[in-house]
Amino acid sequence: MAKMFMNAEWVGAASGQTYEVKNPADGSVVDSAPSGDAQDAAAAVDSARAASKDWAATAPDERAGILHEGVNLIKQQTKDLAQLLTKEQGKPFMESMGELNHFLHGMEFYIGMASKIRGSQVPLPPTMNPNCYGVIMKQPVGVCVGIVPWNFPITLMGTKVGPALIAGNPIIIKPASTTPLTTLKIIGLLNEAGLPAGVLNCVTGPGSKVGAALITHRDVRRVALTGSSETGKQVMALAGPDFKRITLELGGSDPMIVCPDADIAKAVSGAMIGRYWNAGQACLAVKRLYLFEEIYEEFVEKLVAKVGRYEPGDGMAKAEKPRIRMGPLHTAFQREEVETQLADAVSKGAEVLVGGKRPDDDSLGKGHFFAPAVVASVSEDSKLVTEEVFGPVLPVFKVSELDEAIAKANNSKWGLGSSIWTNNMKFANKAAREIESGMVWINQLHYGYDEMPFGGVKASGMGHEHGPEALEYYLEPKSVVFGGLG
Ligand code: NAD
Repeated sequence: MAKMFMNAEWVGAASGQTYEVKNPADGSVVDSAPSGDAQDAAAAVDSARAASKDWAATAPDERAGILHEGVNLIKQQTKDLAQLLTKEQGKPFMESMGELNHFLHGMEFYIGMASKIRGSQVPLPPTMNPNCYGVIMKQPVGVCVGIVPWNFPITLMGTKVGPALIAGNPIIIKPASTTPLTTLKIIGLLNEAGLPAGVLNCVTGPGSKVGAALITHRDVRRVALTGSSETGKQVMALAGPDFKRITLELGGSDPMIVCPDADIAKAVSGAMIGRYWNAGQACLAVKRLYLFEEIYEEFVEKLVAKVGRYEPGDGMAKAEKPRIRMGPLHTAFQREEVETQLADAVSKGAEVLVGGKRPDDDSLGKGHFFAPAVVASVSEDSKLVTEEVFGPVLPVFKVSELDEAIAKANNSKWGLGSSIWTNNMKFANKAAREIESGMVWINQLHYGYDEMPFGGVKASGMGHEHGPEALEYYLEPKSVVFGGLG
């Protein structure tokens, strides 16, 4: 049985309760984990609080050195960790390896930032004495909490652990209840590398109990959530009364616009990877595809042919070439939700061009498999447009000009990512300026680079992860005025 980690120890839940973590490919039990509650959350916060002063005073190079050692330990076990991730999450092994490598790259990015945190000095008008100046110190915010979803459990843990620890804060990670296992192993390895007790902790269990108890604990100063917009509202309401620092990385419904002059082959690949990676369970994913009428037929034909090559199956098995392996959806609920959204579109006149149903293969009957779909003639009021579609279904729309494409792209409550595929500089510039989203990719995959700030507008959240910018959310500026030294 897996255990939680706090104060340098592996522990069970205070209540003794556990729950099973199941493989989405066949329903088998991968392991069990402690079902924590408010008591466990409080114990983790106590251990973090006790560690915070010394960790803040630890030299940045020393913090970086320990994490560097931790990253090396993880690198020695990447394949085993990727296998475990596939078992608990469902994604194909190759995608799990990609996720672990992205996590390691992100950690190395922040390790490199350790010695580059800067405050500033400001000359001030003399009031009592000449030579008055101010210093803006950057200090760690204090005990942090990172709440992580199940779709990319490892990279999205890293986007919180890396900047929090490098900035000198202790942190408690709350993984999604269905994906705690690989997270716990990685947190164990980072601790094994020499983190002092209480600096990096992990509490497992339901978000409504453990997450809420962590957020409302009086000693927690900073909460980073990646999750749905609905959970974002709850986290904001819980953190608000005590003015806690929060960042919210929430849902999305990314538009992708393809113009008549685009490189069609590249754009088709961009749509394929952008929509169907991780079985479509990604925040940054192509969820609405707007094609200029001049290229609509050609594009859709090529896309449908490629999507038809997907072979749903267990993530640990290899697909027969030239097929492409797609894992199961993460839960039964997730698959039912996507089915409901697709059925709603069909009831309003949509046409499913490929996929869109459970595979016939009886051997897959115990998993949450679903054949990826492309859907045409989708009405604007259907759930495929108005809701976040967290699965492998892509609605395609015909547009006749850029203004129309941008207006439709912006007709969404979300604003996470977006892309335009064109070689026309005027079009690219206009889209970059006018699309309401935190990111715009031009002739590029919807991908969160470690080097660039990443965050959304509207219901997609507030604040940023990734890039040097993310460090600022883990540092509190303090203005100090030196007035009497003249
Ligand atoms: P979710 O909101 O259900 O859960 C996310 C985390 O929040 C889990 O750890 C959960 O246990 C916890 N949680 C749930 N209720 C809580 C509460 N009341 N208080 C505290 N914690 C609580 O999301 P999910 O289903 O795990 O993930 C899918 C969602 O995450 C999608 O909407 C997706 O778009 C979004 N997401 C966003 C990003 C981004 O960076 N913008 C990245 C990945 C996923």
